[in-house]
Amino acid sequence: MLEILKVCEIFVSIQGESSYTGFPCVFVRLSGCNLHCRYCDTIYARKEYLLMSLSDVIAQVEAKGFRLVEITGGEPLLQEATPILVKEMLNRGYQVLVETNGSLSIDMISKGAIRIVDFKCPSSGMMDYNDYDNIYRLVAGHDEVKFVIGNREDYSFALDLRKRILESGWYGTINFSPVFGELEPRELAEWILRDKLDVRLNLQLHKYIWRDIERGV
Ligand code: SF4
Repeated sequence: MLEILKVCEIFVSIQGESSYTGFPCVFVRLSGCNLHCRYCDTIYARKEYLLMSLSDVIAQVEAKGFRLVEITGGEPLLQEATPILVKEMLNRGYQVLVETNGSLSIDMISKGAIRIVDFKCPSSGMMDYNDYDNIYRLVAGHDEVKFVIGNREDYSFALDLRKRILESGWYGTINFSPVFGELEPRELAEWILRDKLDVRLNLQLHKYIWRDIERGV
């Protein structure tokens, strides 16, 4: 396998997001991003990278010894070899999560993976880059949706888009995640309860476990 990937880091941690929260997970953080979210907590992943062959990436993941793997970034869909990496991991029996920023078509990623689409809310500054056709590409009961919410405007946006997604016939896990350090989880929790929403409060568990560590967790 000669395909080359720009890899920022490969590490094991406790999955802090999505319905897989709490499970040990191998993270493959690919380098580069096409967006500039105001609250980005992985700015280092924009530029830092090692060039690695696909087989080296797979070997490093296998050496970690866990069956859940997340391909993330940066924006993983920017790299041509990402769909191949996902297929190779699926073929080896891994459960594969792919977290993407919602600006690119998720069709390039095998439906065997769980595609987690992070539609951008207004306070990210990147809302105009959402590819709303991804709504119709989501696999019901399998893929997941995420909204990172920093204020009431973001919350209203997420409510409207959630409605549109559900009206498309899709069903599945929708994650509402407060911007860490900006919106109190309690406040978002109370909004969700008051509005009787069947969404998942997503608290980035790793940031509570490793409060003093900013990367590699
Ligand atoms: S899409 Fe993700 S990695 Fe890219 S700038 Fe936004 S938060 Fe950062």
